Amino acid sequence: MRRIILIMMVLVLFFTITVFFKEKEQPMKFGEDHSKYNVSHDLVLSTRFNSDLLQSIANIDLAQIKNNTDYKKQPIEWGENVTGVIRNIPTDEQIIALTFDACGGEWGSGYDDELINYLIAENIPATLFFNSRWIDTNLDKFLYLSSLEQFQIENHGTEHRPLSVNGLTAWGIKGTSNVEEVVEEVISNYEKIKMLTGHSSKYFRSGTAFYDEVAVKIVNELGMNVVNYDILGDAGATFSAQQVKDSLLNSKPGSIALLHMNQPKKETAEGVKMAVPLLREKGFTFVTLDEGFNRSNR
Ligand SMILES: [Zn+2]
Repeated sequence: MRRIILIMMVLVLFFTITVFFKEKEQPMKFGEDHSKYNVSHDLVLSTRFNSDLLQSIANIDLAQIKNNTDYKKQPIEWGENVTGVIRNIPTDEQIIALTFDACGGEWGSGYDDELINYLIAENIPATLFFNSRWIDTNLDKFLYLSSLEQFQIENHGTEHRPLSVNGLTAWGIKGTSNVEEVVEEVISNYEKIKMLTGHSSKYFRSGTAFYDEVAVKIVNELGMNVVNYDILGDAGATFSAQQVKDSLLNSKPGSIALLHMNQPKKETAEGVKMAVPLLREKGFTFVTLDEGFNRSNR
C-alpha cells in the first residue's frame, strides 16, 4: 500500500514539474486571451531597463527652461520640417527605421495585433512612439511591448498636441500655447514612461508631427531629439495597403518611415507585410532609431 502511495506521489510530482516547465517555455505573444500574457511592472523593470533607473529626471531644471528669455521669442517656422527636426538617419547603409505611433484618444486607442505579431514573427526591430492616453488605455500591452528587446520605446506626447509656444493649430488640433505647456506635453509622458519602464525617452514626436523651431529647441534642452520622417508610411493610417507598400518602397538608405500601430481596422499591417519582403530583396535591413544613429557615418 505504501509503495503505491509513493509511486502515485512521484507521478503527481513529475506531472506538476512537466506542466510547470511547459508553461514557462511558451513564448510571450499577444493572442485573443492576453490576460495570460500580462506583464507586470516589476518584470519589465527587472528584465530590461534596470540600469536606466540610475539616471534621474531631477537633472532637468524646469524653472530655468520656463524662465529662459530665448524661449519667449516669437517663432518664425511652423510645420513638420522646421529647424532642428530629424527626418532621416545620415548613412549610405541600406537601413530603414520603421516607426509606429500609438496616438490614443477616442479614435486612436486601438491595438493592431496583426501588425505587431508580424513584426515579432519576422523579428523586425522598430521604434514605437507612445502617447500617454494610449498607455493609459492599454497598460498591459504597453508593458508587454516594452519588455521586448526588438522594440525601442519613445515619447509621443501627453495630450497629443502640436508643439507650439503660441497656440498654433495643425489638422484642426490646437497646439500648446506657451513654454510651460510645451514642457508639460513632453515631460509628463516622459515621466510616465520612465515610471513604468525605467526607460528615459531619447526621441520625441508630437501629435500631428507639427512644431515651431522654439519648441524643438525646448525638447532638445529637455534631453530629447525631435524625430519625424522622410517616408510618409500610412498618412495617419488612411492609406490603402497598396499605398503603404508603394510609399515604403520609396525608402532610401537611412529612411525613417512614419506609420501607426493603433488602427487595427485600417490597412497599415497589410501594406507593411507586402513591403517588407520586397525591401529585404532590395538589400534593406530594419533598425531601431538607436541602432540606426549608432551606425550613422556622418
Ligand atoms: Zn499620433
